[in-house]
Amino acid sequence: LPRDLFAPERRNSPGLAFGDGVAVGGLIAALAQVAGPFTAAPIIDGREEPGRTRSVASPIDGAHLGHVTEAETASATRAMDAAAGGFAGWSATPAETRAACLDRAADAVEEQRETLLHLLQAEAGKTLDDALAEWRETIDFLRYYAAEGRRLFAEPLSLPGPAGETNSLTLRGRGVFAAISPWNFPLAIFTGQVAAALMAGNTVVAKPAPQTPLIAAHAVRLLQQAGVPNDALHLVPGGPEVGAALIAHPALAGVVFTGSTATARTINQALAARAGAILPLIAETGGINAMIVDATALPEQVADDVVSSAFRSAGQRCSALRLLLVQEDVADTMIAAIVGAAAELRVGDPRDLATDLGPVIDAAAKTRLDHYIAQIRPQARLHLAGTAPSGHYVMPHIIEIGRAGDLREEVFGPVLHVARYKAGSLTDALQEIRRGGYGLTLGIHSRIEALAVEVAAALPHGNVYVNRNMIGAVVGSQPFGGSGLSGTGPKAGGPHYLARFAIERTLTINT
Ligand code: GLU
Repeated sequence: LPRDLFAPERRNSPGLAFGDGVAVGGLIAALAQVAGPFTAAPIIDGREEPGRTRSVASPIDGAHLGHVTEAETASATRAMDAAAGGFAGWSATPAETRAACLDRAADAVEEQRETLLHLLQAEAGKTLDDALAEWRETIDFLRYYAAEGRRLFAEPLSLPGPAGETNSLTLRGRGVFAAISPWNFPLAIFTGQVAAALMAGNTVVAKPAPQTPLIAAHAVRLLQQAGVPNDALHLVPGGPEVGAALIAHPALAGVVFTGSTATARTINQALAARAGAILPLIAETGGINAMIVDATALPEQVADDVVSSAFRSAGQRCSALRLLLVQEDVADTMIAAIVGAAAELRVGDPRDLATDLGPVIDAAAKTRLDHYIAQIRPQARLHLAGTAPSGHYVMPHIIEIGRAGDLREEVFGPVLHVARYKAGSLTDALQEIRRGGYGLTLGIHSRIEALAVEVAAALPHGNVYVNRNMIGAVVGSQPFGGSGLSGTGPKAGGPHYLARFAIERTLTINT
């Protein structure tokens, strides 16, 4: 295949060199100047709907950041009607025009760096490092889907056939997509879902997570200012009943969802119960993500990679490491190195540059994690804990359990489980991982390449990382998504993603 078929001319955003003290100092000063309050409301046909508001509080310290007007189910229905009305015009808009909107939106995300970083910190509790990474990923998704859209949607692709016959393949939008996104990447995943659906020629009704409506509203206004027509993109902040109203609407043509496995299943059941067409669900959910460390791995590198994979973003990534499997002969050394590195982590206000772990997203997450830790403590060996600052903070925990299969649920926070395996019983440990049913990220640390290849081949995981950390998938380089309980398979930031939002049609002409 020609190389550029799957690698259009494009570069990822350079971001900001963290080592550049002057630039970082200037940025921090600028972030402190960003003034709220911010607002979010249903945005339907470009108009913000009035209604009952509630205050949005920062997970950092509970500070009031602004107000959100949540959508009633009636406004969710109106948004779907409006998106249905916009479909004919937007799907007939040339791919180049659609792509140019995404490129202009990428420029605007770059220009609005301070506001967006401020919101990522204040509303989602991100460290500056994490906020910068997410801001960059947002730019990358927009430019990548624009480039991919030009490749796939601009012209029909011509296909071979016998003499006297021409064959072509055309991709076009399906209709109205509901885009349901999580709070852990409230800008990158929100914008990525919307941009992919729009680029493929669909109109969109987006429902952000209830915890992070302000940044979503900002993103919608930005996309519309970049040229996305008001009738092509609508916003409905709200909870599960709003999502249910979108999914029940007769105009729905597909759903793109990132969040929990349980919610993906609920959506799937609601889709199955609908009358009429059978609709696609693009779902990316969670995982009990494992890393296998054998006796040949380098302890210092393992310690660094384990600590960043398990604890960066306070463990609130779908990709985060949950289960470390260490070969028994080296387990004491490896665990000591990891515990030593993790003990250095600083937990607290993420706006402080020295902080490694900010808060968990809200009081409910804090309660859930505290409860989980309290109930597992008596049955497991605790290697690391500590006292968290007051507020929604959870210390990194390293907990040793008996075997891989003992971990049955995804614990969405800074809790790492460790189990030992005997050299001869790796196959059994891999079986246990496979039986768990998840398939998102997998890490392997080994200097025996054949072993790494064998482990990767034995498991169905969508993103496999060898001798490095296992978070922070890069757009265009590590398309992200898994299978089984981890999702329906489409990989965001990859060359096959946009086609999943489209209908494909062949046209054969006998000449
Ligand atoms: N793409 C992100 C990563 O590789 C994770 C996305 C998610 O948490 O949903 O870390």
